[in-house]
Amino acid sequence: MTDAEHIPEPATDPTRSGEATPAPPTGDGTRAVRAGLPEPAKYEPTLPGPVFAAHFHLPGEPTGPYTYGRDENPTWTHLERAIGELELPAEAGGLQGAGETGPAPVETLVFASGMAAISAVLFSQLRAGDAVVLPDDGYQALPLVREQLTAYGIEVRTAPTGGDAQLDALDGARLLWIETPSNPGLDVCDVRRLADAAHARGALVAVDNTLATPLGQRPLELGADFSVASGTKQLTGHGDLLLGYVACRDAGLTAAVRRWRKIVGAVPGPMEAWLAHRSLATLQLRVDRQNANALALAEALRERPEVTGLRYPGLPDDPSYKVARRQMRRFGCVVSFELPSRARAERFLAALRLVDDATSFGGVRSTAERRGRWGGDAVAEGFIRFSAGAEDAEDLVADVLRALDETAH
Ligand SMILES: *Cc1c(COP(=O)(O)O)cnc(C)c1O
Repeated sequence: MTDAEHIPEPATDPTRSGEATPAPPTGDGTRAVRAGLPEPAKYEPTLPGPVFAAHFHLPGEPTGPYTYGRDENPTWTHLERAIGELELPAEAGGLQGAGETGPAPVETLVFASGMAAISAVLFSQLRAGDAVVLPDDGYQALPLVREQLTAYGIEVRTAPTGGDAQLDALDGARLLWIETPSNPGLDVCDVRRLADAAHARGALVAVDNTLATPLGQRPLELGADFSVASGTKQLTGHGDLLLGYVACRDAGLTAAVRRWRKIVGAVPGPMEAWLAHRSLATLQLRVDRQNANALALAEALRERPEVTGLRYPGLPDDPSYKVARRQMRRFGCVVSFELPSRARAERFLAALRLVDDATSFGGVRSTAERRGRWGGDAVAEGFIRFSAGAEDAEDLVADVLRALDETAH
């Protein structure tokens, strides 16, 4: 679904200030293959290789951009620029009427993992006595974060993602944390509506954009203060690295997150950062293929009597579809459903040939797992989280239907 793509581009891209920029690309694929690349320079590679450096030559005054490897690294800079261009393309920011001087440039900070990025926002923004609203059906490590926040004297309120339930918990809160679509339940909430309500009460808003990716959803455009994600999943898509990021347009908020990154030191290695940037070139190809496979799979599963609780935000009869259709440009590669029992689910997973029984999601090779085995999510014993890869749709669907048939008795 690309119905937001006809938005006209302005003549300059504020994320690349200081460079003579030709008319910027328009489509997501065009943007993805060029995102964050430096201006072409004779005899230089298109994407400069990873810069392995703990320190940089620094005579005289110790000023940046590159001083010490925990603070900045040129390989991060290219990746951060790339993610920023995808999270909030110039034309998306321009539409928000951010003033005569144009939209504030988005600033992105990369981290060692998604959890490092999430913790950086929460722990840099919240103080003892503050209240924060978290989803009660979000990523499985959030309850651990919740315990830690509570130990620091921060009041944690929780609400489910579906049905704008978080609206009722906002009074007096300092920050609202949204995860949409939620993992693994795939509920969706109205980011714009929640962000407006939170801002009216003086609360900041952060959105976990992991499942959608920036090509599926642009939280900053929808009014969020922070777009935060794990780059471990579909953003990089090969299951070979951990990464996280925070994108934000407020210089003061970004400075606090940057300071947190410095004192905690949860920084990505240059090799991971470079691999991530290399992977971004195929983001649109991977996302479109994998998401189409997810839809094909969901349509096939819907016909199966042993499958219940089928969820995919891109299915027109899914409870999430109406809101998802309004705020998402693509619906993700994750499908969730239930089989009648734990034993059936285990036999099904074992019978799959093209799908690895593994956690995580978003990779080019399909994976699936019985989510209940971790114990953290409120799901049934037969609940399966399925991540569609980039295989041929016919092969993938055939493998799943065969595994269901073979394990029926
Ligand atoms: C995986 C995931 C995270 C955590 O990311 P890591 O890179 O594993 O630390 C956070 N949020 C969501 C929605 C995730 O799926």
